[in-house]
Amino acid sequence: MIHDILPHKLFNEFKICDPKPTDYLIRYAGGKTLLKNNNAATSGTTGAAYNIPRVGELLSLEGKTLADFEGHYLFSIDDTGFFLDDSAVAKTSDATTHAGYEYVGNRTFRSMDPVERLGGVTAAHIAHWESQNKFCGVCGNVTIRGDKERSIVCPKCGNVVYPRISPVVIVAVHNGDKLLMAHNIDNPNPRLFLISGFVEVGESLEQAVHREVQEEAGVKVKNVRYFGSQPWPFSDSLIAGFTAELDGDDTIHMQEAELSEAMWVRREDIPEYETDVSISCCLIENFRWGFTLDSES
Ligand SMILES: [Zn+2]
Repeated sequence: MIHDILPHKLFNEFKICDPKPTDYLIRYAGGKTLLKNNNAATSGTTGAAYNIPRVGELLSLEGKTLADFEGHYLFSIDDTGFFLDDSAVAKTSDATTHAGYEYVGNRTFRSMDPVERLGGVTAAHIAHWESQNKFCGVCGNVTIRGDKERSIVCPKCGNVVYPRISPVVIVAVHNGDKLLMAHNIDNPNPRLFLISGFVEVGESLEQAVHREVQEEAGVKVKNVRYFGSQPWPFSDSLIAGFTAELDGDDTIHMQEAELSEAMWVRREDIPEYETDVSISCCLIENFRWGFTLDSES
């Protein structure tokens, strides 16, 4: 999954520090991040289509030195820091760029190597949160970054805002040797995945599982069991994965506002899914390989 980057390690403790030239520099504008396009570049190709630029790389392109650096530390992977450029502007069209570099959406990170994939999209998650909290939601004053923890503070009224991490549940519903699979109308990937959705106010993760399956597929589940979790910075989320068993009637009543397809798929008809990024694929592969739930074995 996206956070499994061994032998590398994420260090996300809050601190304030200066960059090294080899640290990564995130320049974020209009919901997009500036990356080096290796296919457009004439030299320096590393194999990956895109790379996150380094602090020294962009500074030298702009005729600047570390003394000119305007940005702040976010976190490190191993001993390489990720810094967010403070010169970021609201619109990509107003942002500074260079030949061979382009602003791209979060989805591009999915095809990058594990360190730049996790680090890049996590930095973009923080950059998005900072960009949406330039002004206090209580009094309208200009906000500043907290200096003791990852927070945004209003110096006028004291309002404190923390990074937004929205919980999501995803569930593999077993029905004997069949798995409930669906396609969300908003997902550009045409493959079938699992039932998922944001946790609503006032409910537990398990209650969200029951509600989402009922709403989207019109069936009931029992024996809801926690499987694991993963960060999902692509949508500012934390995803909790579950397994469950069909309870009663297996007739699917699909929620057409959310899904384009929902069906029971036999184990032998499920194709292989890559498990390096998402817990959804891990849950599907877990079923495909024949792992059963306690009450089924
Ligand atoms: Zn305020």
